Amino acid sequence: MAGTMLSIGECMVELMQAEGGLLRKGYAGDTFNAAYYARLFLPSDWSVAYCSAVGTDTVSDEMLAFMAEKGIDTGPVRKIEGRTPGLYMIHLKDGERSFSYWRSASAARLLADDPDHLRRAVEGADLILFSGITLAILSRDAVETLLAELRRAKAAGKRVVFDPNIRPRLWDDAERMRRTLTEGARAASLLMPSFDDEVTHFGDSSITATIARYKALGVADVVVKDGEKGVTLAFEGSEESHVPATPVARVVDTTSAGDSFNGAFLSRLVTGGSPSEAAAFAARIAAGVIGHHGALVDKAKLVG
Ligand code: ADP
Repeated sequence: MAGTMLSIGECMVELMQAEGGLLRKGYAGDTFNAAYYARLFLPSDWSVAYCSAVGTDTVSDEMLAFMAEKGIDTGPVRKIEGRTPGLYMIHLKDGERSFSYWRSASAARLLADDPDHLRRAVEGADLILFSGITLAILSRDAVETLLAELRRAKAAGKRVVFDPNIRPRLWDDAERMRRTLTEGARAASLLMPSFDDEVTHFGDSSITATIARYKALGVADVVVKDGEKGVTLAFEGSEESHVPATPVARVVDTTSAGDSFNGAFLSRLVTGGSPSEAAAFAARIAAGVIGHHGALVDKAKLVG
């Protein structure tokens, strides 16, 4: 059955150290990465669209061209005169990665400032993905606009997927962060949290506690990711079940493990796979992704 997936958030310009002091340019961001992986694995009768905002400068045009080249529909990306995309740099020192960010005035912060634009994008979608990073970069008013739209989509029976992707550095106040993430969860029908983040920021004592906390907010389905320990599924009407991670011979780069899991999982789930089939597939893809460098790994490297 054909459909449209809409992923909502920020894609940034990525500068990565290369040989000879050169920098290699790429594009990445949690919700964009997930859209990329969903596009790799969804059939061609599904479209995958990205909802964000960019500027009208050259780097914005290049980013849109990159997305289009990856098969992502950029129709729902707003273009805002005078703004530019956010940027981050990856530093590599003795095999350890660290990051510098220039994103505080990025165009993407305005992605939900035009309610009509947002409504059109959400109304055209069957499956919607957003994250805690999406919420962290928005003004309080824009968070409200976005969540109101997502609550409408959820009420209309659409699958609204939320990955809390907790990044305390993006929030000025821990209490507001928890409150806003909780409101985000309420607007969703499927939650895909990482257990270590939930322990650190919500004090959950077990995966079952994380599941119970989200179910109590009216979330039907929960997938708790727990790195190399695999995932726990709690889908409406089924018993809690565990799906192991796929062993990785050598962890090369864990960037985008969770994002690739999300994209691959959703691609199977919405095309008729059971939650456990979708999770087993996503575990294989995420294992492939962490066995290679970079956030966006070519399909040929992931499926033999
Ligand atoms: P996030 O990157 O969002 O924190 P996780 O670390 O839980 O998410 O990883 C997401 C998925 O990636 C896991 O469910 C698992 O399938 C896979 N994964 C992560 N780390 C490993 C690992 N060391 N070995 C095998 N699979 C892993």
